[in-house]
Amino acid sequence: MKKIFTLLLFVSVSKQCFCWGFFAHKKINYYAVFLLPPQMMVLYKSNIDFITEHAVDPDKRRYAVSAEGPRHYIDIDHYGKYPYDSLPRKWKDAVTKYSEDSLNEYGIGPWWIQTMLQRLTDAFKEKNQAKVLKLSAELGHYIADAHVPLHANSNHNGQYTDQKGIHGFWESRIPELLADKEWDFFIGKAEYIKNPGDFIWHRVLESAAVADTVLKYEKELTKQFPADQKYSFEDRSGVTIRQYSTAFSMAYDMQLKGMVEKRMRQSIYAIASFWYTAWVNAGQPDLTHLSNKEFSADDLKEFENLNASWKNSSIKGREEDQ
Ligand SMILES: [Zn+2]
Repeated sequence: MKKIFTLLLFVSVSKQCFCWGFFAHKKINYYAVFLLPPQMMVLYKSNIDFITEHAVDPDKRRYAVSAEGPRHYIDIDHYGKYPYDSLPRKWKDAVTKYSEDSLNEYGIGPWWIQTMLQRLTDAFKEKNQAKVLKLSAELGHYIADAHVPLHANSNHNGQYTDQKGIHGFWESRIPELLADKEWDFFIGKAEYIKNPGDFIWHRVLESAAVADTVLKYEKELTKQFPADQKYSFEDRSGVTIRQYSTAFSMAYDMQLKGMVEKRMRQSIYAIASFWYTAWVNAGQPDLTHLSNKEFSADDLKEFENLNASWKNSSIKGREEDQ
């Protein structure tokens, strides 16, 4: 019985627990749309289902392409001590100092976001609707990941401190429990970002600075909490899973003083502002007159393949919950 149970648990857990979780990523992209000016809303609002659903494509791609993983994080503690001044913020300088292979080994999140921003700017210049939507949805994903403290630390799932599971706890379990009921995501307006590189590095450093707190508070709370009440068991579609109990989750969130909600709100603001910045830098094209309104056969095939890889393959490279 115990064996079967463990197996069921593994099956259910192996498809979740990374990068804000699918739930939060979708929420974040969805709410970002409402920060846009009317000239952009005209495209994004009418395609909000796409922007929401495809917020998780980059995570699905991790099951198909091994180069995908490092785009979602940076183990910045590998580079010394906060604020990690020895790590060049410019990609070319960082490659010269550490080599591309080495950078990939520890994650390239902040640089990849800047590449995606450039691609989105180019798509706006081309007035290519399909590309704008695809790249917007995916850029949103990477920006949101940069706001997660454990995406900026090598102890990303508490694997070095006997806290396995904390990755999904912070970014999936807590938002799933509280986002709809208690949190507020109406934030104001997108703003033009003069220096996107500085902006995103700043956010990554904020993430890195609180990673220790995220780990420490869970450890402390575990010590104070009755051992048999830390986890609860729940039936999900016929599969029994073990998860952090509601009481433990609420206590942790309280101790973090709203950190998870704040990082979600900051993700939403950052994403809308990056979309807006790309549009402005492309010369504010009229989004009611775009080409490529339909997704091509290749696009549709790609969406299908991403889903198939995600459902049928195992993740390529590092898994956050291992
Ligand atoms: Zn991710």
